[in-house]
Amino acid sequence: MTRDQYTFADPRSLYPTISPEVQHQDEPGLQSQMTPVPDLGEETYRGTGRLTGRRALITGADSGIGAAVAIAYAREGADVALNYLPSEQSDADHVIALIEAAGQKAVAIPGDLTSASFCRELVEKAVDGLGGLDAVVNVAGKQVWHEDIADITDEQFDLTFRTNVYAPFWIVKAAVPHLAPGSTIINTASAEAHTPAPDRLDYAATKGAINNLSKGMSQQLISKGIRVNVVAPGPTWTVLQVTDGVDPESLPEFGSSEAPLGRAGQPAEQAPAYVFLASAESSFVAGETLNVNGGMVSP
Ligand code: NAD
Ligand code: MG
Repeated sequence: MTRDQYTFADPRSLYPTISPEVQHQDEPGLQSQMTPVPDLGEETYRGTGRLTGRRALITGADSGIGAAVAIAYAREGADVALNYLPSEQSDADHVIALIEAAGQKAVAIPGDLTSASFCRELVEKAVDGLGGLDAVVNVAGKQVWHEDIADITDEQFDLTFRTNVYAPFWIVKAAVPHLAPGSTIINTASAEAHTPAPDRLDYAATKGAINNLSKGMSQQLISKGIRVNVVAPGPTWTVLQVTDGVDPESLPEFGSSEAPLGRAGQPAEQAPAYVFLASAESSFVAGETLNVNGGMVSP
């Protein structure tokens, strides 16, 4: 490694300011087909044993933020159960290979989170495959832009809520009986939770709900010794953006105007927040939202 996540660097130039070409894929897309391909920290994330012996279930673990988290967790010493959609297997294979290269176990459990019964099955398979569970990391998400409310179909509104809010609810509900004191749950909100963009009403509303649900859950589950926290990413270069997450015409400016840092973030820059919140080093942090957004002002 020429550098790792601990190397002293100017955050503005740590990654190039990308100006992605206009591109489009159908949901959920393949990260490997993007230009440029996002950085998951493959070459830079260095583990130091911060999650030694942990057993984590991560959704959306094939690409983007979830994939960067999966790689980081494995390098920190955790075994990982990965969920993603079956069509994303090739992206998942890249992550599974890196988990195994780190000497950790990867349990692949593809399937559709919009089904409550699948979410319950996912938790059971993760517990079986990992021999227990002590970290639940909900990263999967759906985001489809529309300028006009008239174009948001009832089906889309429903699927966005099922993916982003119902699935974490179903998963946490099924997981809690397996989680010993010391376990951690991390949900994924967004800067959209407090600053909703006009062209993603359904998505932004789910992110507000995730934040609220997590803070409520935190107060309830702390009585079992389980900490619940949230990561709220800002503009991060992932395949979500090129699968109608934003207006494709806006991609060349992606991230550079929104984040005071002047550039989009990379998934590799989100992973350390998830490591911190899963690790026992954050033992006194519960019900918190950690904003990782390149300096956008958050409440
Ligand atoms: P991504 O497309 O790489 O990851 C999203 C993943 O969600 C997909 O890989 C897919 O596996 C999963 N998913 C979607 N629908 C699913 C379903 N029905 N069943 C199972 N899995 C499903 O994009 P990302 O940007 O890394 O997104 C990860 C999370 O980060 C999402 O919750 C997103 O809302 C959040 N987020 C992203 C940004 C950003 O700028 N990229 C900003 C704020 C929040
Ligand atoms: Mg994906």
